[in-house]
Amino acid sequence: MKSLAILGSTGSIGVSTLEIVAAHPERFRVVALTAGRNLDLLEQQVRAFRPEYVAVPATGDAAALKARLGDAAPHVLAGCDGLIACAAQSGAQLVVSAIVGAAGLEPTLAAIEAGIDVALANKETLVAAGDVVMSAVARKGIYLFPVDSEHSAIFQSLAGHRKDDVRRLILTASGGPFRNRSLAELEQVVPADALTHPNWNMGRKITIDSATMMNKGLEVIEAHWLFDLPAEKIAVHIHPESIVHSMVEYVDGAVIAQLGIPDMKTPIALALSWPERLPLDLPPLDLCRLGRLHFSEPDTERFPCLALAYRALTSGGTAPAALNAANEVAVEAFLDNRLGFTDIPRIIEAVLDRHEISAADSLAAVLSADAAARAAAVRLIENAGGLP
Ligand code: NAD
Ligand code: MG
Repeated sequence: MKSLAILGSTGSIGVSTLEIVAAHPERFRVVALTAGRNLDLLEQQVRAFRPEYVAVPATGDAAALKARLGDAAPHVLAGCDGLIACAAQSGAQLVVSAIVGAAGLEPTLAAIEAGIDVALANKETLVAAGDVVMSAVARKGIYLFPVDSEHSAIFQSLAGHRKDDVRRLILTASGGPFRNRSLAELEQVVPADALTHPNWNMGRKITIDSATMMNKGLEVIEAHWLFDLPAEKIAVHIHPESIVHSMVEYVDGAVIAQLGIPDMKTPIALALSWPERLPLDLPPLDLCRLGRLHFSEPDTERFPCLALAYRALTSGGTAPAALNAANEVAVEAFLDNRLGFTDIPRIIEAVLDRHEISAADSLAAVLSADAAARAAAVRLIENAGGLP
């Protein structure tokens, strides 16, 4: 019986994780749940899974949740300290890190520092603080299992091979809902258009990131940290069907890929049960019915976010933390109708141009770069009329 803390339990990844847990009650016990503001769903989850600890960011929400649950209430904690306690002191053997954005960084790092294995969906943690996180992983000797489907595919495709024999990683990208739109058409995109993804059903922020292709940029940086390879050994192919989840090309020309239907339950379940595989009730992959799979080069002129992520990775230091923070602010402004779709990369580029890169070798340095980039992005958005 493995004990789990699920950070971000009311989100898309959190809900899928709990569905896997519910289907395998003999394998997992939930000891802690954390969520943002969706108290209705969190209350249902607490009643169903009976964790010992729950945490939400707002003190008022913690009190409201406690009142709703009455005698059924576990220890209800609040704020960043509450999230950290759920991650690091709830007795979990594995922490599922599925908060969205840099808000997931401190609880995830706290779990690692406490010597607990982590199933990582929250890619922003590695983008902002890859050096700090991977140093802690090495120092503590814990497992950091990728949940992101591309990184899970690479993790599986690397198994049994020597890292020195890798020529490059090839991350696949669906290309998002606007793969075939012209630049002029992209200027007109509104949130409702961008919130429908052709292949994956995900949270709002990552759905917009997929539409701008920043999601793939963040994943290139995530792959750099997880697999210790430089930017020039990480390529991206557009693959609209999302069947090949990613590939590893070796020096002898062999390419090993992992395929499957696009359903996050497969990579989540592997991260929960590695090295075993859990039986899942999913439709099988039927390649004969699909007939064809397509691949093409990404277009960084229409989707500049991907190029900006490569730039930040190559610049190093706090540049990826600044990229991530600027992106979070710009995506929120777009969802709020305060910023145009094609202004998202303009804001990020302007923040990167102004960012003074320093070493990202401590949590304090990362948090300070994150805060400075957020403030710069907010200022630029307020004056968005003046953007180049
Ligand atoms: P989501 O928006 O559906 O859920 C996010 C969760 O985090 C919710 O429980 C929310 O309440 C909580 N949360 C949000 N802000 C918070 C804050 N400030 N403090 C504490 N909790 C907060 O997002 P998602 O789609 O489940 O994605 C979660 C993470 O997994 C993201 O980093 C995303 O990039 C990554 N990911 C998601 C998918 C997917 O298919 N959804 C695939 C790969 C990676
Ligand atoms: Mg992914």
